Amino acid sequence: MIYADYAASSPMTERALAVLTGTARNLWGNPSSLHQAGQDAHDVMERARRQCAGLIGAESDEIFFTSGGTESDNLALRGVNADCIITSSIEHPAVLRTAEDLARHGTAVTVLPVSEGGAVCAETLGNALAGAHGRVLVSVMLANNETGVIQPVRELARTAHAHGAVFHCDAVQGAGHIPTDVNAIGCDLMSVSAHKLGGPRGIGLLYVRRGVKIDPILTGGGQEHGLRSGTESVPLIAAFGEACEEASRSMDAECARLGALRDRIASELLRLGDVRRNGVGNCLPGILNLSFGGVGGEALTLMCDLRGLAVSSGSACHAGDETPSHVLAAMQVPAEYRSSALRISLGHGTTDDDADGIVQTVTEAVTMLREMSS
Ligand code: PLP
Repeated sequence: MIYADYAASSPMTERALAVLTGTARNLWGNPSSLHQAGQDAHDVMERARRQCAGLIGAESDEIFFTSGGTESDNLALRGVNADCIITSSIEHPAVLRTAEDLARHGTAVTVLPVSEGGAVCAETLGNALAGAHGRVLVSVMLANNETGVIQPVRELARTAHAHGAVFHCDAVQGAGHIPTDVNAIGCDLMSVSAHKLGGPRGIGLLYVRRGVKIDPILTGGGQEHGLRSGTESVPLIAAFGEACEEASRSMDAECARLGALRDRIASELLRLGDVRRNGVGNCLPGILNLSFGGVGGEALTLMCDLRGLAVSSGSACHAGDETPSHVLAAMQVPAEYRSSALRISLGHGTTDDDADGIVQTVTEAVTMLREMSS
């Protein structure tokens, strides 16, 4: 099987897996316990916190572990207690559905459009901020999970701050794949998830800049300095730390390697004709979104699967969901191309041979489906 669905979930790296199993076997103490077993677990957790902080240029006391990207986004959006939330039409449902829920409870929510290229514009944000009142939270992702389009988050954060707003960045797809620095971006809050960068599922973090006020959404034992109650999963946290450190180390080389593979796959598949590339320009190196005219995205995904290639017809959240992508709709992609989109996403285990296999399998599947429908 060729796995080309890293944006849905990445296989763990060997090192992260070794740390996960080793920690689970040897460090079962509760990190809040005073005895040696607890303190040993605590030390491992704090080392991982430093490794995670290192990936995004944060201080370790600004890192709060959560169960993943969804919880981090919820904590950011709900914990700020904003009177007004401004977000974008291409955000992940973890942000969009949360904003909708808050709107039902009285928060004013504005959802910004994006350009046809799939990016949020700082001027549009500025206009929305000019009409916003009270405590305002702006939430825009670092890079889109369907198209890979990198957002101008520095400029957006600057615009948000010029209006006194708090800026949250959902970096779940970008962190670990492109240089991501909370100070260079200037964000107040950032969400990161381990399973998108070679770590395990069920663990993520919220970065909270010192001095930014945020309330917990869970009540309980007061772990994570009271911001996220619940006994910490030390094995997951330790493996997350390891994956972050590995990602920091290999990032430059992986960016170049995956970007070259992505471009080769794109140029070969574009030769099929009537193929549209969704999201061009400044994109993540590992994500390629193509629409194949005359072919249903679901059928194409299933046909590829039958031939041993795991890809996605959009985000994992859309699989089995007939609703066309809200991201492609926001980018004004014509309806027939929205329903024929395929997301190919590459990662640390993708080889040159895999790239050849992806081209061959997608070519065969598209050709066969086009023949069947003509
Ligand atoms: N934000 C983005 C941009 C994502 O792509 C995802 C997952 O696909 C999430 C949030 C949710 O992360 P998790 O699966 O860790 O809950």
